[in-house]
Amino acid sequence: MHPQRPPPSGPTSGFRPQLATTVQLGLFGVLLLFALAIWLSMPLLGGIVDKANQVRDEYLPELTRWRYNTQRVEQLYGFIQTLYWTSDSRAARSSRLQAQVLVDSFAFAPDSALAERAGQTLLHLQNLARLRDAQRDTLAALQQRAAALLAALPGDGGELARFAAASSHLGLIGSDWQALQQQAQALPDSGAPPGAQHLLGALQAQFGQLHALETQIGAEHRQALEQQKQLAATLNTDTALKTQQIATAVEHEASQVRRYGLLVLLLLGAITVLVLYAFQRHLLRPILLCNQALEQLNGERPVQLPPPTLFHELDTICHSVREYSNMTRQLQLANRELMQLSQQDGLTGLSNRRHFDAMLAAEHARASRHGHALTLILLDIDHFKKLNDRYGHLFGDDCLRHLGAVLTRSCQRAGDLAARYGGEEFALILPELNLEQSLALAERLRRSVAELVTRTDAGEPVSFTISAGLMYAEDCARHTPAGLILQADQALYRAKQHGRNRVEVAGESLVAG
Ligand code: GH3
Ligand code: MG
Ligand code: MG
Repeated sequence: MHPQRPPPSGPTSGFRPQLATTVQLGLFGVLLLFALAIWLSMPLLGGIVDKANQVRDEYLPELTRWRYNTQRVEQLYGFIQTLYWTSDSRAARSSRLQAQVLVDSFAFAPDSALAERAGQTLLHLQNLARLRDAQRDTLAALQQRAAALLAALPGDGGELARFAAASSHLGLIGSDWQALQQQAQALPDSGAPPGAQHLLGALQAQFGQLHALETQIGAEHRQALEQQKQLAATLNTDTALKTQQIATAVEHEASQVRRYGLLVLLLLGAITVLVLYAFQRHLLRPILLCNQALEQLNGERPVQLPPPTLFHELDTICHSVREYSNMTRQLQLANRELMQLSQQDGLTGLSNRRHFDAMLAAEHARASRHGHALTLILLDIDHFKKLNDRYGHLFGDDCLRHLGAVLTRSCQRAGDLAARYGGEEFALILPELNLEQSLALAERLRRSVAELVTRTDAGEPVSFTISAGLMYAEDCARHTPAGLILQADQALYRAKQHGRNRVEVAGESLVAG
């Protein structure tokens, strides 16, 4: 019948989200995000590979072409030099033809500045070749004339004969035509036969031609070299430009990749925050609140439950917890009421015998533990049977109620207890009073009751008295609760014996603890 608390292994032993669970869920989330990041990065990585291939396909052939052209321009230099320096007509022709083929095979756009410059170089190169051919022909003619002159001269032709002999062996390359021309002009023609004079004049004219051709050849040579040099410089500049273009394109792609990567990271971060927030707001918090509510079920205050969540199942659990909490509270109230009723006397409102027994045991234990005094007073209405018999049972009940009220007023301290012991007998438990105080209180009570007037239905005033037996235990440890009751009861008996309406103190009260 005792109100009992619910066993500890109640609903609170259910699901409790602990750190380990949260960490596991967090790790799972991180793994999920990692997989998402890889999945999102796939097109990005594929894009990088595509771009790399595109750059290679687009720029590599061009770079190869430019490299190839550079090598050819270098070859062109060789041809120009051969044409200038060789005296061999076949080698000269071969170089000229090869240069022609080389320039034709240049992979330039036809209308580009490079193509124009290559054409210019070729033009000078051709001029150079043509002038060298002309020089070669002139030299051959000059040598024939020199031989003829030598033949036309008499046996000792002197200086003229030596000059003619030397001229017939002149080489195309390395001859100083200007000096030779001057030398020829300075030759004395006096004394030479008339045929030889004519030949000398022609020879002088041919030296003049050779000198003029040499001058032109020198100019063409310089211009051809200059054009070739500029062609090489332009090619190098263009290659550098192309390289820069490639670098710019690659840098552009790299910055795009970086931006995209950053965007993906930001997106993932935002998704993570949102997921964690949603997880905390809509799942973890409701579960924690539900859990707290379950833990507070035995408390006085109404439990706090989360508002409706996104999960129907969780709402159902919360609803059940709310219902269970309401039920528990009602049960607690009913239990408290029941407990009060089970401890109370219905007629007087004082504690009943059961509660008195429990409280006497508790107060006795407390007094024994702390070493303080305990007073027990048993009261009994004098000649109550007669009152009942004369005025009726209901009047007797009124008297009992009035007496109960007087006792309640007298026991106001914490720990004091007034109880209906049975029938018209009452008991008071008074801890921490000394004997004098206890006796004074009992006397005061006795007088109050004696002065009490209870009216019958007819309005007749009736008074009654009480007798009291007082047991004072200075050292409770020396007594048992039952012993205290026995002592008080014996004192009460003596009070009855000695004429009633009096207080008797138990003999053991006076025994010093
Ligand atoms: P004494 O002075 O020796 O105590 O005499 P007494 O008449 O009071 O004692 P006794 O034990 O002979 O009578 C007790 C009476 O109390 C008997 C019973 O009718 C009455 N009584 C017990 N309980 C109640 C109750 O609840 N209401 C009423 N009205 N009377 C009760
Ligand atoms: Mg009595
Ligand atoms: Mg009695």
